Amino acid sequence: MNSLVSRSDWESYAKKLNIRGQAFIDGEYINAASNNTFACISPIDGRLLANVASCDLADANHAVLSARTVFNSGVWSQLAPAERKKIIILFAELIKKNGNELALLETLDMGKPIRYSKEVDVNSSARAIQWSGEAVDKIYDELAPTPHNEIGMITREPIGVIAAIVPWNFPMLMACWKLGPALASGNSVILKPSEKSPLSAIRLAQLAMDAGIPKGVLNVLPGFGHTVGKALALHMDIDTLVFTGSTRIAKQLMIDAGKSNMKRVWVEAGGKSPNIVFADAPNLDDAADSAASAIAFNQGEVCTAGSRLLVEASIKNAFIEKVVTALKGWQPGHPLDPDTQVGAIIDQQQFDTVLEYIKKGTASGANIVCGGSQVMEQSGGLFIEPTVFDNVDNTMSIAREEIFGPVLSVITFDTIEEAIAIANDTNYGLASAVWTSNISKAHKTAKALKTGMVWINHYNGGDMTCPFGGYKQSGNGRDKSLHAFEKYTEFKATWIRL
Ligand code: NAD
Ligand code: MN
Repeated sequence: MNSLVSRSDWESYAKKLNIRGQAFIDGEYINAASNNTFACISPIDGRLLANVASCDLADANHAVLSARTVFNSGVWSQLAPAERKKIIILFAELIKKNGNELALLETLDMGKPIRYSKEVDVNSSARAIQWSGEAVDKIYDELAPTPHNEIGMITREPIGVIAAIVPWNFPMLMACWKLGPALASGNSVILKPSEKSPLSAIRLAQLAMDAGIPKGVLNVLPGFGHTVGKALALHMDIDTLVFTGSTRIAKQLMIDAGKSNMKRVWVEAGGKSPNIVFADAPNLDDAADSAASAIAFNQGEVCTAGSRLLVEASIKNAFIEKVVTALKGWQPGHPLDPDTQVGAIIDQQQFDTVLEYIKKGTASGANIVCGGSQVMEQSGGLFIEPTVFDNVDNTMSIAREEIFGPVLSVITFDTIEEAIAIANDTNYGLASAVWTSNISKAHKTAKALKTGMVWINHYNGGDMTCPFGGYKQSGNGRDKSLHAFEKYTEFKATWIRL
């Protein structure tokens, strides 16, 4: 499988794939209790990939019982961290070893280019799991500064049963950001992938088992949000719900937690991230290349997409020209062609939403500088060219709402204060970027931005070593880094009188 160098190599591999669509509960692949399935259709060309188990409350109950039983048994939750570490690292190695298959599943299922499924999704997923495994036997508890005759122990314990509900834009990676610290900490997990991209999660379950993760510790329930997702959100025996997805559903999950057992809810939600380019940016060509990839990478289906480009008025025209030139390198192509940079939009619904926003942009008075249309229609797939809007006002819906597609809004400013005000005038607070060669201006702006992540002279940087997440309605808590473990452990204070 190392000779996958052309589109036809990947196509013939796809023909040989045995795609599994069952749920994974208590260590076994099984149908939904109802026997219901839904069709998993590829946005590349409309091909049917699999009929996937459509889980609901009965399956949620089954999985929670299995997860709770194994948690209480201690076979995983009380295993020494160094032992859990070995198994988690083996899980990461199996992800790498099966990387071609996982990458192909991801590309077929959600339409992203195969090169990024391999370079980004598979590699970063394996790294997320491995890093979490490596970390877990290096995290120490604390002792409080107590009087001499007393001891205050501050310890962290695995919480119990965790539900992880994840989106479709980076299906496996978003799952692994949760699975890494959740499993490494000793919890049992129920993973619910998006109904739009269930295949890689279903495959991961087998790899986790093969690595030695005991049955019941990882369950995968494919299905819809309003059925199995809702059942998990309202479940009385799930301790913590971790979520990546839209702000609308994040709010609903908080309500459902409040209506049920007050399970802890951690959400990574949407964004409308400002990418601020000052006239004194160190290199405007680099800034323009970055602005192009910030909106076109992953078809713009990125929570941190640099969807609001704030440009200093004096350089606007020249800068837009550079961005448009850079976007020529980001035109859609066949996702299984290893040279393709931009793939298909996930499904018809999202495709229609993106085109609808393009219409709204024009109707509200902004003007299209490039793109704006469907392309490659004859392929039977869902492709939209990267689109740039000029003359956008920050009050327009294309500047306020998350489009989750390759649509860039260009807004101008004259002063640093104005740039900061526009950048922060949003319900979201996930990420932002600042381009300037003035170090004081860079820091002053970065400090003023109400976002969980700020990039300076760069876009989308980061690694497992740095936390990921947002302010405001972009969410709470953080994925990645040691801070992620805070969501998967309960805090205990034990006070001892000697
Ligand atoms: P979504 O909110 O529609 O769905 C996310 C998940 O929630 C899916 O698994 C879905 O089935 C489930 N769900 C839907 N309704 C539910 C309900 N009532 N109860 C329980 N579960 C329910 O989001 P999406 O369209 O899959 O993903 C796109 C969104 O994800 C964007 O808003 C994007 O910004 C966000 N996202 C955020 C991050 C981040 O880290 N901040 C990363 C990636 C994506
Ligand atoms: Mn799909």
